Amino acid sequence: MGQNTNELMDKLVALCKRRGFIFQSSEIYGGINGFWDYGPLGVELKRNVKAAWWEDIVRKRDDIVGLDCSIIMNPKVWEASGHVAGFTDPLVDCKKCKARFRADKVFSVVARDGENVLLQTGVEADDPEQARQGAAAAANSKTRRRLEQHAERLDWEVFRADKAPKGTSVHCPLCGGDLTDARKFNMMFKTFVGAMEDSTSVAYLRPETAQGIFANYKNVLDTSRIKLPFGIAQIGKAFRNEINPRNYTFRSREFEQMEIEFFCKPADAEKWYEYWRDARFQWYVDLGLTSSKLRLRNHEPDELAFYAVSCADVEYEFPFGISELEGIANRTDYDLSQHQQFSGRDMSYFDDDTKERFIPYVSEPSGGVDRTMLAFLCEAYCEDEAPDDKGQMQKRVVMKLNPRLAPVKVAVFPLVKKEGMPEVGRKIYADVQAAGLAGFYDEKGAVGRRYRRQDEAGTPFCVTVDGQTLQDQSVTVRDRDTLVQERIPADKVVEYVKERVS
Ligand code: ATP
Repeated sequence: MGQNTNELMDKLVALCKRRGFIFQSSEIYGGINGFWDYGPLGVELKRNVKAAWWEDIVRKRDDIVGLDCSIIMNPKVWEASGHVAGFTDPLVDCKKCKARFRADKVFSVVARDGENVLLQTGVEADDPEQARQGAAAAANSKTRRRLEQHAERLDWEVFRADKAPKGTSVHCPLCGGDLTDARKFNMMFKTFVGAMEDSTSVAYLRPETAQGIFANYKNVLDTSRIKLPFGIAQIGKAFRNEINPRNYTFRSREFEQMEIEFFCKPADAEKWYEYWRDARFQWYVDLGLTSSKLRLRNHEPDELAFYAVSCADVEYEFPFGISELEGIANRTDYDLSQHQQFSGRDMSYFDDDTKERFIPYVSEPSGGVDRTMLAFLCEAYCEDEAPDDKGQMQKRVVMKLNPRLAPVKVAVFPLVKKEGMPEVGRKIYADVQAAGLAGFYDEKGAVGRRYRRQDEAGTPFCVTVDGQTLQDQSVTVRDRDTLVQERIPADKVVEYVKERVS
């Protein structure tokens, strides 16, 4: 798109607010960091993302069943899963301004020209190269000039705040004050169940939906006559007390996950892991992430959790950097074994054919609804030109969302608010509603303006009732992306749209 990435993000955030996709939570009270609300268009888009996932993962398959678990569970679940002991991020505080950072996202950057220190600063970044570039870009103009002049012979020293060599201080990215040593911070939200507020009543808001699936594995197995290999899928809220929520909805404190636990024989685990890694990547492509911004990254052996054999991330190049949309992992029998040990319940599976008893292995595709939505919004944002009412080309902003995901599928306009056109328009709109399609009826203002509003909302089709409609019952259908208009019979609108949005 050739524009500054921050500028693109700013435009997208402004559009999402202006058109009712995403609002800051409790904005009238100044908001609350890390929490977001989805407006009238946003909630439709979000529901469509979840519905597409549910349809493709649960409804269209024989080997996956769905589940909907409670958010608060017995706290032993989180002891067994390892979250009580290990769901931590390293945290540092600024001794001066008291700002708080994730220590693995703060870097100390020093640039030396021989003995001379040209630049020494702390900067928030995801990796050392981003940190170096960020520090150089944030320097004052004199320092920037000197960095450029001496670029050839500069010696750069970049390290993460939680990996700082002993005795070195890391500076606060905001005020330059010294940061404390890193310490562990558990990201689970705590609450109390019942009237007593003491250690016996502590419970947690789930930080992932997956553990509810493992806790119900036996229930599902015993009640659904399903056999290995099979999966259990769940969509639901998860909560993480992120130290630094940032990048719009990308890192929130309350978000939704879409997770599958796919159980299989240990010998088949790698095969299923590879199947799910590739299938999940393709799902994003099929729903519109077709650019080179989407990629699949296999984890290096040193990145793997100790219980995982293989892991890959589906990543997307957001305007703020390349980041994870979904992780796919072969988690072995770790989770079920942990729950067997902590609950004392037998989690084994008896194979009728081979007469073997074993704890199944699991492949886990774990994605986020909010991040996926943000990727679809970023990919869809487009600026091009379209003719106005006088035929003059004008700049337009258009959200080229996949029709299956678009919040509104078809908008219906009478060209003018007279001569019987509104009546015909309302009849078509009623047919659209009766067919269960998300439609929008608009009879106010110039038709060009009405098209623009729908372009910004991502509506794939606009139907216009005009003078000719009154003579031959035909209407125009305008395609959002190609701007091509074709005439079709008014009573075929529902069929036309349905064919193209599923
Ligand atoms: P990150 O490293 O970015 O924090 P993660 O590896 O901890 O992510 P997982 O625990 O694998 O994430 O969670 C699975 C999915 O849940 C992620 O791929 C992401 O889509 C979503 N997710 C996790 N944390 C957040 C968050 N704070 N805000 C929004 N979505 C999230």
